Amino acid sequence: MNVGIIWFRNALRLNDNRVLVECLNSTNSQTILPLYILDKSDLEQNNNENKIKFLYESLIDLDANFKAKFGSNLIVLNGKSKDIFRKLLDSDLLDLSEIFTDYSNKPDDIENENNLKSILAENASVKLHLISKVNSLTNVQEVVSQENFKPPKTMKDMEKLFSNLYPKDEDGFYSIDKPLEIPENSKPIYENSSEIIKDYLFDVKKELSLLEKDSKSYFKGGESEAIIRLERKVSSEEEYIRNFRKPRTISTNKPENPLEPETTGLSPYLSFGCLSPRLLWKETEKCYRNGEHTQPPESMHGQLMFREMFYILSRAVENWDSDTNNSMCKKIEWGDFDKSKMELWEKGQTGFPYIDAMMRQLDATGWMHHLGRHAVSCFLTRGQLWQHWEQGRDVFDRKLVDADWALNNGNWLWLSGVAPFSMPYFRLYNPCPDGKSSLNVEAKNAEFVRYWVPELKDYPSKYIFEPHLAPTPIQENARCIIGKDYPEPMVDRKVVAKENLAKFKASLATLK
Ligand SMILES: Cc1cc2nc3c(=O)[nH]c(=O)nc-3n(C[C@H](O)[C@H](O)[C@H](O)COP(=O)(O)OP(=O)(O)OC[C@H]3O[C@@H](n4cnc5c(N)ncnc54)[C@H](O)[C@@H]3O)c2cc1C
Repeated sequence: MNVGIIWFRNALRLNDNRVLVECLNSTNSQTILPLYILDKSDLEQNNNENKIKFLYESLIDLDANFKAKFGSNLIVLNGKSKDIFRKLLDSDLLDLSEIFTDYSNKPDDIENENNLKSILAENASVKLHLISKVNSLTNVQEVVSQENFKPPKTMKDMEKLFSNLYPKDEDGFYSIDKPLEIPENSKPIYENSSEIIKDYLFDVKKELSLLEKDSKSYFKGGESEAIIRLERKVSSEEEYIRNFRKPRTISTNKPENPLEPETTGLSPYLSFGCLSPRLLWKETEKCYRNGEHTQPPESMHGQLMFREMFYILSRAVENWDSDTNNSMCKKIEWGDFDKSKMELWEKGQTGFPYIDAMMRQLDATGWMHHLGRHAVSCFLTRGQLWQHWEQGRDVFDRKLVDADWALNNGNWLWLSGVAPFSMPYFRLYNPCPDGKSSLNVEAKNAEFVRYWVPELKDYPSKYIFEPHLAPTPIQENARCIIGKDYPEPMVDRKVVAKENLAKFKASLATLK
């Protein structure tokens, strides 16, 4: 009997999963083989433990849900996908007819796909199906291939693009497709695979148990958690969603819990594909249908449209992740890589408590509020440290539990001031915010800073964002002497900001 492989890659879920649905509906295969392939050494080299943990939890959850629904386990393999597919294709035991996976334009995925395509070129009977609209609202490939396509740079461009693709209904809502239900139909599972791929089998539960026990990672991976969070933060919070304005959300998390975001906290689930963006879009729409609601760019739909914009741009723009030959990036003369500056920033030892709290949160949990990301990326690049945005991008890529190639690069381009969609390069964030800052910090009790920078926990709120200004008796009283127990600011923020703006301006002038 012909076998169809469901190659789970960036959609670790059963709901609204077109890869799964298309494979089950295909008449070219009678049995199925559900696979996930990871490369452990690569994973460990390029990611921190929070991300790996999130992935393992997501795989365990997918396995349990798949088993409950279709009566068989997800097979997780460790190795290079090209070796594994070669093995499967060369085996006499298995009659492979097709492979289904999600469309992706991430460089690693494309490389794996190209390897697979060259193997398949020798086996013309096996078909590879790259399924679109799995992790995006639009068919990205189709959008960028349209004759009159222009890369979107603003929310207005995105609204135009959406209006063309999804004409609005009588209530003014885009006609985005309904999320797909978990299929009711099934096919028998191909049972003899372990004989072929026994050398690659990976025990996720065992590997998860080997990870550090006392990690502060906050988000538990998996579709089940995603659905619970979606219900808790979106579906049951109609008023909050209708009034949602991203720039107004608080960057220092919930006052009662320094680990719980004020925003949805759904980004890790979207990035790993535990949650479909379509499901979030539609749950948001349900809230909107009950009354007045905010609009893009600030609204929740606006956030998903930014996400879509970066998915489209990352496909359309060559060298999206570089400052060379990238039409969305001005090649500014950034400073030479400075190891010590980078380390102080990455470790949260800059002497700027807000920046340090954010970077320590990132390190411990893998997450940071959007405005915190604004502040630390501005600080690293055009604001204070004059380091290349690609350096910061790499740290985020390794540590963010929601790291997403399209979004991470897009937002670093935005924040470093080099893209056409960037904020004006001369508008800097003050790394020592007060209660009135657009970074929206909780400054009265400053619990967030006290939690993440415990050296300062006994400081009066008045000085906690700029503790080096506290008179010596106050420092002594708080048992934290600046320069001894907590660093002096690593730079004079005002002096370097002025210098950096001048450098940016001069560098821009050479590009004209
Ligand atoms: C320098 C920098 C790097 C970033 N890197 C990433 C990244 O690697 N992965 C990532 O998911 N987000 C990234 N973001 C965007 C944004 O900060 C996060 O998506 C958001 O903070 C996640 O929290 P949330 O799920 O509570 O967001 P919500 O406000 O609840 O938004 C819902 C969803 O909309 C999408 N979204 C929101 N803001 C943006 C945005 N600016 N761009 C694109 N999509 C958005 C996300 O998928 C998010 O989960 C980055 C932002 C900056 C400034």
